[in-house]
Amino acid sequence: LTSGRAPADRVRTTCGYCGVGCALDVVVREDRVAAVLPARDGPVNRGHACVKGRFAYGYLGSAERLTEPLVRENGELRPASWPEAVARVADGLRAAVRDGGPDAVAAISSARATNEENYLVQKFLRTVVGTNNVDNCSRLCHAPSAAGLTASFGRAGGTDPFDDVENADCLLVVGANPVEAHPVVGARLLQRALDGARLVVADPRAVGLARHADVHLRPRPGTNVALFHGLAHVLLAEGLTDPAFLRGRTTGLGELTALLAAYPPARVAEITGVPAGDLTAAARLYGRAERPAVVYGLGVTEHLHGTDGVRALANLPILRGAVGGTGRGFGISPLRGQNNVQGASDMGALPDLLPGYGRVADPEARDRAEAVWGRPVPPRPGLRIPDMFEAARDGRLRALWIIGEDVCATDPGSRRVAEALDACPLVVVSELFLGETARHADVVLPAASWLEKDGTFVNFDRRFQRVRPAVRPPGTARSDFAAVHAVAAAMGADLGCPTPAEALAECGQVAPVFGGLSHARLDREGAVPWPCPSPDEPGEATLYTAEFATPDGRAHLAAPPYLPPGEEPDADYPLLLVTGRRWAHYNSGSMTRRGGNLLLDTHGRLDLHPEDAARHGVADRASVVVESRHGRARLTARVGPDVAPGQVFCAFHFPEDGVNALVSRNADTVTSCPEYKVTAVRLRPAPPR
Ligand code: SF4
Repeated sequence: LTSGRAPADRVRTTCGYCGVGCALDVVVREDRVAAVLPARDGPVNRGHACVKGRFAYGYLGSAERLTEPLVRENGELRPASWPEAVARVADGLRAAVRDGGPDAVAAISSARATNEENYLVQKFLRTVVGTNNVDNCSRLCHAPSAAGLTASFGRAGGTDPFDDVENADCLLVVGANPVEAHPVVGARLLQRALDGARLVVADPRAVGLARHADVHLRPRPGTNVALFHGLAHVLLAEGLTDPAFLRGRTTGLGELTALLAAYPPARVAEITGVPAGDLTAAARLYGRAERPAVVYGLGVTEHLHGTDGVRALANLPILRGAVGGTGRGFGISPLRGQNNVQGASDMGALPDLLPGYGRVADPEARDRAEAVWGRPVPPRPGLRIPDMFEAARDGRLRALWIIGEDVCATDPGSRRVAEALDACPLVVVSELFLGETARHADVVLPAASWLEKDGTFVNFDRRFQRVRPAVRPPGTARSDFAAVHAVAAAMGADLGCPTPAEALAECGQVAPVFGGLSHARLDREGAVPWPCPSPDEPGEATLYTAEFATPDGRAHLAAPPYLPPGEEPDADYPLLLVTGRRWAHYNSGSMTRRGGNLLLDTHGRLDLHPEDAARHGVADRASVVVESRHGRARLTARVGPDVAPGQVFCAFHFPEDGVNALVSRNADTVTSCPEYKVTAVRLRPAPPR
């Protein structure tokens, strides 16, 4: 479904890779992408783009693209027509409901998909199937941000527009490698630092920005909460707080002050490995700045106590009074990894939250949705992604629709995930390629990519921007929006909102915070931040200028004690593995590895320190076997000082190497986000193949 719009020679759209949200001009010749140019007037990127957004579009015309549906017959996937595939899905969903009730069905919606697609998926699950079993992959990355920022401030997003970083006089960049993972943001942060802002980087690795930092804090993986408490301790001890702000606009200071007594720099140094002097110097830089900024990434969230980490980090701008108004400071901003991970959650593709973050357990929020949808919304929260797999394994879940996520390649415990899919009577996968997950499907629906469809994304600083089709999808591939409508129709339901524009308009009725947004307005204005309840309002780029969105209108300081990570090094597994991203590739690599970017980075590599390389008899570029208590991977060693002794790093862009099989099933105690950032491993030279 491309809203009937003929492809143009040059199409303005929003990048479908990371969450920065760069505006791109796609040059089209004979229905093929000829070039992608960064838009000079792009609200976020201002004429810049990275190697992913600019050059990684070769996958569009790949011979491996799925061009027609596939259905499983006699154990094999065979081509099918859309009517046959859709009927198979509808029949399977009806059978699952008949045999197990509505909660026997679940869907994993997609942070790669548009807002309108996510809105439609959750509406389908809630109103046609009758379950809240819908989730998206923020569960695996920034769910702790949503939970933590909501608890501290009231809303599940960053507090200030990223443009304000250009006024910041101190940047605290934590658990993020924006130079590689969010290059346009990384460049803007670096520029600000070169222009005079003080820069503190907190990351176990010597990431790109660390080379330019005034202070680089290198905490042991899994010790963030202690590190942030140590910084807060110094702010309090040295009077680097804003007493009037704390009195007038916050709560929880007494409890936090009592807790922080146990986190003086010397003790924090023992826990984290960060020298007390460095910690104090960093806290002074942040505390003495007039307009400090906190920017963070998955190094804060993907932990056993990830939500505690977000809350402990959020304490810093609260203590400093650097949030809640223009000129106060930049507040805090999570760097979203995927193009629309903010939007997928905003649209209610979550098991406990409706569009706009109303709780399904809240009768008032349900009433509002039911009034628009004309159907009851179940009150009980549904299953989270990891629970879906467990429910499939034990027979409670009988149908699972997975949209745009290769869970067998990217989720922890890939073998267990595959077993869950094999145990589930109906698995539907909507995908661009026949990936690992699709191989376990009963029905595969060929999907349109971000360059082939119509809608909107929300970027990391809450800006809605338009996504427009530049070329047609191959064969009979179609958008997830069209596929969900087709399945609903085959089940005798009319979901309404036949176009993406109408879906966003309807979403604004369910969630007043989006009430002022429309495709027509975004076409005129380019980008509009939410909350934006009315077409006459510009949208709140800076949140909380009058009061916070918590029930009492105050920012809530948190006092979680430091608790150790799920795994620590020991005699059997003496190294700690951290996983993350590299510059040229994106997530499982299904798109960036099908084009020229593969020339830039060809295979999975394991970064390790020269001391560890010598201790384990591993030479640079040698093959190594990495083992954890959960799995095994084979990688190429890259020996260098970027990782600290005792730690190793690899990216997750080459999942066939077995990287995600290494990761434990430990997960954030609040949100179930996997502890990707801390796995105890050992390594040895690999035997010849
Ligand atoms: Fe796309 Fe992110 Fe690169 Fe911008 S920085 S071009 S949004 S991948």
